[in-house]
Amino acid sequence: MEAPLIGIARHRLTTDGDGVTTLVAFHGCPLRCRYCINDRCHDASKVWRTVTPEQLINEVGIDNLYFLATGGGVTFGGGEPLLYSEFIEAFATQCPPQWTINIESSLYVPRYHLQRVLPYVRAFLIDIKDTNPNIYKAYTSQDNLLALDNLRWLMQHDGMAERVTVRLPHIPHHNTADDIAASRELLTEMGVTKFDEFDYFEKSPHTPKNIL
Ligand code: SF4
Repeated sequence: MEAPLIGIARHRLTTDGDGVTTLVAFHGCPLRCRYCINDRCHDASKVWRTVTPEQLINEVGIDNLYFLATGGGVTFGGGEPLLYSEFIEAFATQCPPQWTINIESSLYVPRYHLQRVLPYVRAFLIDIKDTNPNIYKAYTSQDNLLALDNLRWLMQHDGMAERVTVRLPHIPHHNTADDIAASRELLTEMGVTKFDEFDYFEKSPHTPKNIL
């Protein structure tokens, strides 16, 4: 089993999970966000390399002592990491059990991907964009029913109020402070308690949390 990557970033602290983490970014995403944070994930020529779960464990294991000392581990992002749920499951079942596994996802994937990784994931960082279907469609080119249904399903599991953080971006020309407040209200009703509000930038679409 192999998966295509666009990058690996080591020694991240408190940006995408507890302790020291290594971000592993997969190629490929079903959405087409206007200010994509990693648009290399859409271009087949930008695949950096492919790895097996065993190769990746060996490679990121260079930071094993940091992971053990800080309660850190590996955060899978992208792109859309849940497209590689089988790979993540193989990684999680073979890596040292003390490593924490986190996922950064839009949840815009078939449910079975989420079901497959659920037993192994400590923290979910969900980029929900905006809960208004018209805003979501205009920004991502897709409908948001799938992502919201998956989030509802996820929040029904024990402990998710602590393990799920939902990112609520201000997206220039797409949503307003009132839209973000409406999203926050709906998500709170769904049981979400942890939010990360920040700004996307029109000309420089990278958010500091996702730069590789
Ligand atoms: S979900 Fe993330 S990787 Fe996918 S298009 Fe949107 S910003 Fe880019």
